[in-house]
Amino acid sequence: MIILKEMASYGHERIVFSYDEGSGLRSIIAVHSTALGPAVGGLRIWPYQTEEEALFDVLRLSRGMTYKNAAMGLDYGGGKAVIMVDSNEEKTTDMIRAFGWLVESLGGSYVTGEDVGCSQEDIGVIMEETSHVIGVPGKSGNPSPVTAYGVFYAMKAAANHCWGSDDLNGKKVVVQGAGNVGLSLIEQLLEVGATVYVSDIMADKVDRAVKLGATAIEEEAVFSTEADIFAPCALGGILNDDTIPQFRAEIICGSANNQLLESKHGRMLAERGILYSPDFIVNGGGVINAAEEMASGGYNKERALAKAANIYNILLQVFALAKERDILPYEAANALAEERIAQALAKGKE
Ligand code: NAD
Repeated sequence: MIILKEMASYGHERIVFSYDEGSGLRSIIAVHSTALGPAVGGLRIWPYQTEEEALFDVLRLSRGMTYKNAAMGLDYGGGKAVIMVDSNEEKTTDMIRAFGWLVESLGGSYVTGEDVGCSQEDIGVIMEETSHVIGVPGKSGNPSPVTAYGVFYAMKAAANHCWGSDDLNGKKVVVQGAGNVGLSLIEQLLEVGATVYVSDIMADKVDRAVKLGATAIEEEAVFSTEADIFAPCALGGILNDDTIPQFRAEIICGSANNQLLESKHGRMLAERGILYSPDFIVNGGGVINAAEEMASGGYNKERALAKAANIYNILLQVFALAKERDILPYEAANALAEERIAQALAKGKE
């Protein structure tokens, strides 16, 4: 009964729990919404301590995918799957194969893909069992460069909204996390003449960015360094009670998921006069890239990049809606997604 109550409060359509004795698979698939199309979202393989923890994560992440896909203008709903094991120590091929059967058994209402703990090899095994999978080897490939391309265009939109010009030449940008997305973003920023400061907990990642022309800063200095833009490209929850008072940047725009620790932190940023660019709009390039595999004619990189660049217009639309309704940008981003879904549902009932 508690599960049904949770489903009702999050608005989920379906949750599938699966246990496979032969492989030891323990998995949950959450289909949040199919209003716009099949529920698309990756597979997270994580050593959750409890079933409640896994359920909470899959509910939250699948709903997030509904919002992201809707806001990106994709004709897909939102879903997500979790497998409750340590991907380094307990994951087996049989387990992944059993997960592939499970996805196949849902008949296309859920389409899976890569997420934390799930490798390209795992995707290869899944695709032997089902065609309802995206981000497959040899097709759309690594989404990070397209995600970074979208973040770059989002940053230009935020700059335009804030300063009346989207030229990033001469702007000071602090990038937290020089991983797959962060490094590609740094490259693009340096190319247009921005001054980039970088921090990463891995020294080799910092070195790669410094070789490109970025300046290294200490991990603790990322929030208080004087800059125009702060780009969180590492962790979620980094916009919180501790960090927000330290910021000296005017814009926050980066790829990390779930940047606001709580929704009240969106208001705290606005009170400090900092423009927060909603994360699921900014980082939508990754899902745009993978979803291209399902487009008619198959994957097309140019089309994926063009759609990721359109995040510029989507973000401007979000800022305009926020202004028009006197709400915060993250609330406007939610409204944009919710209204697109409501329209689809109303059309379906006609
Ligand atoms: P990644 O693992 O390649 O890079 C993350 C980097 O952050 C790593 O280099 C890591 O060492 C660094 N890091 C971790 N903690 C840090 C800290 N406290 N300070 C500084 N650096 C720290 O991941 P990625 O694929 O580049 O993704 C970055 C973020 O963007 C993640 O939050 C991810 O969920 C999100 N995202 C990624 C994509 C994508 O296409 N890869 C799409 C959407 C969202």
